[in-house]
Amino acid sequence: MDDSPTHARPAPRAEIEALPRYSRASGLDKVTWVASSNESPVAPSPAVQNAMAAAAASLNRYPSLFGDQLVAAIAERLKVPPDQVMVGAGSLSLLQHMLVAYAGSGTEVVHAWRSYEAYPILVGVAGSAGLRVGLDAELRHQLDAMVGAITDRTKVVIICNPNNPTGTMIRHDDLMRFLGQVPGNVLVVLDEAYREYTAQEHDEVALLATFPNVVVLRTFSKAYGLAGARVGYLLAAPEIIGNLRASAPPFGLSSVAEAGAVAAWGEQDLMKANVAAVVAERAFLAAGLGSRGFRVPESGGNFVWIEAEQAKGLEKECIRHGVSVRAFDGEGVRVSIGSRGASLAVLAAVDTFLKDRQIRRNDSSII
Ligand SMILES: *Cc1c(COP(=O)(O)O)cnc(C)c1O
Repeated sequence: MDDSPTHARPAPRAEIEALPRYSRASGLDKVTWVASSNESPVAPSPAVQNAMAAAAASLNRYPSLFGDQLVAAIAERLKVPPDQVMVGAGSLSLLQHMLVAYAGSGTEVVHAWRSYEAYPILVGVAGSAGLRVGLDAELRHQLDAMVGAITDRTKVVIICNPNNPTGTMIRHDDLMRFLGQVPGNVLVVLDEAYREYTAQEHDEVALLATFPNVVVLRTFSKAYGLAGARVGYLLAAPEIIGNLRASAPPFGLSSVAEAGAVAAWGEQDLMKANVAAVVAERAFLAAGLGSRGFRVPESGGNFVWIEAEQAKGLEKECIRHGVSVRAFDGEGVRVSIGSRGASLAVLAAVDTFLKDRQIRRNDSSII
């Protein structure tokens, strides 16, 4: 190796070099329906678009330090004090701030696996070691095993509920028992990116009063249809919010994004109608897959999980039928819920995929 000044190159920390790279689904430019990123199929309402356009007139000015207007609107509706709310440029950036502030070198972060692909990356960026606890046979979090995985190096546990990509949900009683067993010095992040798509008997926000180590993480990217604006929020004890506000860069939310989120937050009925349409379509697609012999876990998200070893093959067939999906080879395919046309295209792709495999099986039995 030549380490003379002209040949030397800046090197990142070893953890950064080792990170898997983010990627998007393939075939996005070729398809009629995009069902690979769990986005809302519905464009932002005119009110939201107008609010964002109006906010553009003041873009020469910095926004408020911490998105005060959106914080106030969220606090009011959820009936929590504003010092328990933090907003940021997507819930992923908030999760990153949490991991940087509370985990870091020499610490461990426990999360389920298979779960959200961003977790191992953000844990690595924070310099922490990820401890993955496998899902059970029904593709649910194994909460007891997650408690068992906690050591004195564990700083954070991430719970994805409903779980991306399997859609599986955690029963409220199980969550309560779990929280009762986690040591109070461990931060528990409840990632509820899809909570609006789940029938709601309990509101996890109420847990903050009992468990001051809990953080509830939510987003405007899914049910509120603002994935492109990058807005997320979290609810936590004032002390946690204070530490995150001290360590994250200020002005984390653009004024245009904030205006859009405030407007979308004000249109709860519209959000609920959009969610209801997705939930109905989710039932249609899940039933269609079930009748074709797939084991489809009940999903609490805006997507369904198709268990399939040859996931890449199924993905290819979906793209050929005009739908992009997300394949996890050897495991399954995640399909975001959209229009009836998209569901029918997925079912047609599944039929071709199954027929093709049937023929191949027959061929191989002749051999
Ligand atoms: C989509 C998703 C998010 C949202 O991330 P944003 O940065 O808010 O867009 C967070 N967590 C999970 C599990 C998700 O699937």
